[in-house]
Amino acid sequence: MSVIVVGAGPTGLMLAGDLAAAGVPVTVLEKRSMESNLTRAFGVHARTLEILDMRGCAEALVPQGYPVGKFRSHMGRGDLSLSFRHPESRFPFVLIVPQARTEALLLRRAEELGAKIEVGTEVTGLRQDADGVTLEVNGAPGPTADYVVACDGAHSRVRALLNVGFTGRNYKTKLLLADIRTSAQMQEAINGLMGRDGAILFPAFGDGWYRAVIWDRAQQDVPMDAPLGIDEVLESVRRVSGKDIDIAEMRWSTRFLTERRQADRYRVGRVFLAGDAAHVNSPMGSLGMNTGIQDAANLAWKLTAAHRGWAPEWLLDSYHTERHPVGQTALRISDLLLKSAVAPPAVQLIRPYVARMVLATPPITRFLRRTVAGMNISYPPPPGLPRSSATGSRVDDCELIVDGRRVRLYELIKPDRFLLVDHSEDGASAAAVADWSDRITAVANRGQQPSRRYTAMLLRPDGYLAWSHRSPSPDQVRAAVAHWCGATRNSRQASSV
Ligand SMILES: Cc1cc2nc3c(=O)[nH]c(=O)nc-3n(C[C@H](O)[C@H](O)[C@H](O)COP(=O)(O)OP(=O)(O)OC[C@H]3O[C@@H](n4cnc5c(N)ncnc54)[C@H](O)[C@@H]3O)c2cc1C
Repeated sequence: MSVIVVGAGPTGLMLAGDLAAAGVPVTVLEKRSMESNLTRAFGVHARTLEILDMRGCAEALVPQGYPVGKFRSHMGRGDLSLSFRHPESRFPFVLIVPQARTEALLLRRAEELGAKIEVGTEVTGLRQDADGVTLEVNGAPGPTADYVVACDGAHSRVRALLNVGFTGRNYKTKLLLADIRTSAQMQEAINGLMGRDGAILFPAFGDGWYRAVIWDRAQQDVPMDAPLGIDEVLESVRRVSGKDIDIAEMRWSTRFLTERRQADRYRVGRVFLAGDAAHVNSPMGSLGMNTGIQDAANLAWKLTAAHRGWAPEWLLDSYHTERHPVGQTALRISDLLLKSAVAPPAVQLIRPYVARMVLATPPITRFLRRTVAGMNISYPPPPGLPRSSATGSRVDDCELIVDGRRVRLYELIKPDRFLLVDHSEDGASAAAVADWSDRITAVANRGQQPSRRYTAMLLRPDGYLAWSHRSPSPDQVRAAVAHWCGATRNSRQASSV
């Protein structure tokens, strides 16, 4: 079985890396022949870092960025802040890092693991039947594959070829985006300035460079194709912030008309949509790239299961069931953030009071912090498996003791295998899944248990809880495992005799 990934952005590269790590033959077709020089996304949230940690990549990315622990906003009546200091994570911050660095890391990983990356190849046509998918590339007959994943961005050609609706709307709000160097002293935070004439977000890259995301009420009639120079950015920054901020240098800028759209279906037969091809939202909340990378982590192990022949029938469909609502939430959050930034004057009057009230309520700030960071994502149980309280949710990293060795839980999570953590005295749950050893790593843990409530926990390859039990019998363990991981090789052979 083979997979073709269309598009070598962060989503496609993450997917290709996970598939290659699992030994699935994977080729990435990318129409660009040059590296993109765009900064685009600037924030990597805690949950994405956790997933990259499970893939052994976070250690390399974090030193390349600037960890920021809070969002701080000035709304004319003092400062308000929202903390990103997640006590439940090894990554209690948003990592501010240019998208190009995240992409470079994911590209290196995918290539090292054996993914083929073919640049200068634009997918122009697609045909699929029950046996596979055939692509047209640069207008000529192209390769075939068992599955194709469209990671070809907001204007996805594959999505259009599939006739999948991209429901939503364009915002009228024009934003200016610029990477600038300034000597202005700003706090170590994502700084937001909201005034009567507009709003600015200033995430710091930590080396004197800042991304400026500017909504300037006075610039809304400027045509989108008008060049955007340093003088216009400086004027907007000063007008909106009311401060005498200098701009020593500008390395990138663009006008940006943002959209809020989502693909109606994430799967059509043997073709899947992921990343911006499946959902686009405003830059507020920095959710686009994060959601795309997590789409990839969700889909990769399901395609791997199909490749190895043990995917239950519903597994590939669960990609849409699980990820479509997550995309919807990302659209809603960034919509809310954009609307509060570009609020009309009447709303601006009450905005500081409402914001102060909201941010003074700990359960709300916890919810906001975790939702923006992706820590609240939780998936419904698959068909036929009853929901236990924690099924589908994220599990905190913790230190296990396995065979006398200390090891972090996240280090044990691999892109192509489930993980069964057994905390019982006799290790009976770990022993019960011996027949699935080609797809499950089972460990008897003598260290900290990820949840005190359960002695047996089954984790998916993307780090979410598949199943857990307080003290299961071996048969209960086997039933849960068979539900997720299919019949064992032995039982399939036996039933075909
Ligand atoms: C100007 C701008 C600013 C942004 N700012 C932010 C931000 O501040 N925060 C944030 O979170 N997000 C931001 N985003 C969005 C973020 O960049 C995307 O969410 C992210 O890049 C999505 O990754 P992706 O891999 O899904 O798609 P992309 O990064 O768009 O990658 C798609 C790839 O597919 C290739 N491709 C397209 N068509 C074909 C084809 N037919 N055949 C072969 N290859 C093809 C493209 O060349 C590209 O390399 C911004 C986007 C833009 C455009």
